[in-house]
Amino acid sequence: MDRRQFLATAPLAGLAATGASVPAFAQSGSAATGQVPAVQRVAIGDVTVTCLNDGSLHIGPDALIGIDAAGYEELMREHFRDPETFPSAVNAFAIQSGDETILVDAGTADAMGPSLGKLPQNLSAAGIDPASVTKLLATHLHPDHVAGALSDGGAMFPNAELVVHETERDFWSDEGNFSGAGEMVQNFAALARNVLSAYGDRIVTFSGEEEVAPGVTSMPLPGHTPGHSGFMVASGDSQLLIWADIVHVTPIQFARPDVAIGFDADPEQAVATRQQILDRVVADRMTVAGSHIGFPGVVNVAAEGDGYRMVPAEWTYTL
Ligand SMILES: [Zn+2]
Repeated sequence: MDRRQFLATAPLAGLAATGASVPAFAQSGSAATGQVPAVQRVAIGDVTVTCLNDGSLHIGPDALIGIDAAGYEELMREHFRDPETFPSAVNAFAIQSGDETILVDAGTADAMGPSLGKLPQNLSAAGIDPASVTKLLATHLHPDHVAGALSDGGAMFPNAELVVHETERDFWSDEGNFSGAGEMVQNFAALARNVLSAYGDRIVTFSGEEEVAPGVTSMPLPGHTPGHSGFMVASGDSQLLIWADIVHVTPIQFARPDVAIGFDADPEQAVATRQQILDRVVADRMTVAGSHIGFPGVVNVAAEGDGYRMVPAEWTYTL
């Protein structure tokens, strides 16, 4: 899907009017041929992180800034990927820390079409009841991260605080920021406001690096949106940085971190932030988890040439 097609996606255009709701699980194939639940657990010290997939979407070259179709195709082929269909994952992460069940992002519900909206069934497969979620940490308020926080216009997670960067809340709350914006951005903003109002007095904001839950520290990573943030999970000697939308298209942006995406609120700042955090992740040999890195989305990163390469984590055989 290129940017024009993405902009024209009907469910997205209708999103402001309807508010998101959870789609019924469309069963594809028989029990023996349909895909199995997309759930993987990793241990970070005493904390368990459950990687959960919501589906995938294709982000073509027209949606990117700083690379043309030929450059895109070349990098895709170099990584053995099909430039016409390469799926960027949409992931969320549950964190079991002490008595808390914390969810980082909430998927798309029915806001972005049938290739997405699978988080509820994967949460269920992971044994996580939405009512048990104590905190929903929002990396930012784009629909692929928070449309699933709504169910029939109300809160999908009835007992959860919504934790979000105060700049992010303020940015989307101010309708004046979008007066000249196109329909898609208007819809993004309307959805963000719906989410904020559904959680009402259960919204908790942070503004810098703060412990937002036991063992979980916010890390502002501005650019993609003004309050775009990662979350560092740390326990004992282990840590995992959930870096949200630092990379949207893995075969492209690890090799070419200077490539931005049309959805970046500030593409220049997004590129600078990506470069900074990639350097830090390489220097500190950090493990990262990404919203749009192929499921389960957990990788290490090495420097390579003028850019970087990702090294997927091994399957977790024992916890
Ligand atoms: Zn995203």
